[in-house]
Amino acid sequence: MQNELFLFNTLTRKKEKFEPLNKDHVGMYVCGPTVYGDPHLGHAKSYVSFDMVYRWLMYLGYHVRYVQNITDVGHLTDDADSGEDKIEKQSKLQSMEPMEVVEHYMRNYFRDMDRLNVLRPNISPRPSCHIPEQIESIERLIEKGIAYEVNGSVYFDVKKYNDRYHDYGQLSGRKIEDLMEGAASRQLEGQAEKRNSFDFALWKKADPTHLMRWKSPWGEGYPGWHIECTVMSQKYLGETFDIHGGGNENMFPHHECEIAQGEALTDKAFAKYWLHNNMVTVNGQKMGKSLGNSIYLHELFSGNNELLDKAFSPMTVRFFILQSHYRSTLDFSNEALHSAEKGYKRLMSAKRMLAGLEIPKNNKISPDEDLNQRVYELSAACYRSMNDDFNTAQVLASLFELSNIINSLGHGQIELAAIKEETLKTLRDTFHVFTEEVLGLIDEEDSGDSQGALPGLVEVLIKLRKEAREKRDFATSDKIRDELKALGVILKDEKDGTTTWTYA
Ligand code: ZN
Repeated sequence: MQNELFLFNTLTRKKEKFEPLNKDHVGMYVCGPTVYGDPHLGHAKSYVSFDMVYRWLMYLGYHVRYVQNITDVGHLTDDADSGEDKIEKQSKLQSMEPMEVVEHYMRNYFRDMDRLNVLRPNISPRPSCHIPEQIESIERLIEKGIAYEVNGSVYFDVKKYNDRYHDYGQLSGRKIEDLMEGAASRQLEGQAEKRNSFDFALWKKADPTHLMRWKSPWGEGYPGWHIECTVMSQKYLGETFDIHGGGNENMFPHHECEIAQGEALTDKAFAKYWLHNNMVTVNGQKMGKSLGNSIYLHELFSGNNELLDKAFSPMTVRFFILQSHYRSTLDFSNEALHSAEKGYKRLMSAKRMLAGLEIPKNNKISPDEDLNQRVYELSAACYRSMNDDFNTAQVLASLFELSNIINSLGHGQIELAAIKEETLKTLRDTFHVFTEEVLGLIDEEDSGDSQGALPGLVEVLIKLRKEAREKRDFATSDKIRDELKALGVILKDEKDGTTTWTYA
C-alpha cells in the first residue's frame, strides 16, 4: 500500500503531496456552523466531507488534532460588516437569550451529525469563550500598525497588509485593484469609518440595544466573525498549521481575512494546505434559506418536506454525499437519493454476505488466479483513490465491483474454492476499512433500532415458505416471494435447496 497522499490545495491551485509540518502529527481546522438554525444538507456535505478527510488521515497513521469552531457571536447577516448578528436576530425572533439560541441549535447540530456518524472534533471552541484572546490579538495588530480604531470599532488595514506582506486575495484570486472599484459602496452602514471599503472589522462597537457585549480597550463591543477563526486555530494548532478547511462560499472574504490576520499577527505563513468543499444544489439551483429550497437534515430523516417524496435514512444521506467528490457540487433530487439508497443497501448486503462466506475444506478445485488478482487490484484501487485527493466516488465504484464478486461467490455462480484464503482476507479487510473506518458507513440493519428486526423477519418468512412448498402449497409460497419482492427483498433458491436473500 502506498502512503503518499496528494491533495488539492486551493492556495496553489495544484494537487500537492501532503507533508505535515511535524512528522506524524496533523493539525486541522475547519470553519464550523453559526448556530442560529437547524443543520441542513449543505452542512452535511461540508462536515461529512471533512469527517472523511479526518478519518483517512487517522487511517494513514497520523495523530490528528481536529478543531472545528461553533460560531456563537459576531457573524453578521451580510457575511461581512453590515447587518444584524445572526444569533441575536434569531434570539429576538424566538424570544430567547442569544446563548439559549446557541445551546439549542448547537445540540441539534451535534445530534444530526451524530446520526450521520460524523466523528466529533477534538475541540469545538466558541468565540464567546475566547474574548480575552481576541482582544489581545487585536491590540497586537494595532501595535503593528496594521489595524486602526475608529469610534470604538477596530478595522484591519487591508492596503497596509497588501503592501507589507503579499497580495491580499491569493486564495480567491481577487486583486486589490478590483476591490478598489467597489469603493463606491462606502455609503453602506459602518463603511464610512473605514479607510478603504475593503477593510474589515476586528471589533465592533455595540450600540445601546446590542445584547452580546464585552468590555474592551475601545469600549463595549463584540468581536468580528473573521478574527475568531484566526485566534482559535492558532491557539490550539500553533502559528502555522497543516490543514484549513471550509466551504467554497467562505473563501472570500472570510478565509482571505483569516490569512491576512494570521500572517500579520505572527509574520509567518498561516495554514499550509487549504481544502474547500463545494455546495449543494437543488434540482440544479443553488440551495439557500432565502430561496426557500433548503432541506433540513431532520426533514430528510423524517420525510417531512414537500420537496421529498419519502424519508431517507442517515446512512443513505451519508452515502449520497460520498458518492460525489468533495470538490464537486452535489445536486439534490428524489431520484438521486433513491439511487443512493439502493446503492447503500447493495453495499451493506454484500458486506453481510461476505461475513458468511467460507471456503470449503479439502476442496479439489484449484483457485482462479485471474479472480484473485482482480480482488487485489480492486482493493489497491481503493487506497489509491483515497490518496488521490480523497476520491470517495472512485472508492465506491471499486467496492461495487468487489460486491459483484462477493454476490457471485455467495450465490454459487463462482465456486468458493476459486478464491484463496488470503484473498478472502484481503476482501474482508478492504470492506471493513473502507465502508466502516474511512467512509463511516454503518449497517443500519445491524443498529438495533426498529429496522434491526428485518433480517430475522425475512428468515421467518423463508421458513414458512419452505413449509408451504413442502405441502405443495405453491400459491402461498409464491405469494410470500412476490410480496417480499414488492418490499425490496429478493429471495433466491440455491442449488443446495436453501434460500438466500438480498435487497433489490
Ligand atoms: Zn472560519
